[in-house]
Amino acid sequence: MAWGRCPAAAVEVDHVYPWSKGGATIVSNGQALCRRHNQAKRNVTPPWWYVLSLERRRRGYFPEGANVRVSAAMSRREREARAGTQRRAAGR
Ligand SMILES: [Zn+2]
Repeated sequence: MAWGRCPAAAVEVDHVYPWSKGGATIVSNGQALCRRHNQAKRNVTPPWWYVLSLERRRRGYFPEGANVRVSAAMSRREREARAGTQRRAAGR
């Protein structure tokens, strides 16, 4: 399991709450993992204490004042931005 700190290079981006279970592809639901741990985690929904420890670590490297919460859901602003991207891709 990917529950601890790992010395390997974090080269893959993981959905903390799995995409296959409704977790959105957004920064608040993302974490960088090494290849081995990302493969080991697969589509496991992490326990609450893992999420808390991830939020605590984020305070150390997120910008001052940034929201460190792990969230599987898009905010209204993120939904609007996503819709705009899709409209532009469709040429509308
Ligand atoms: Zn690892």
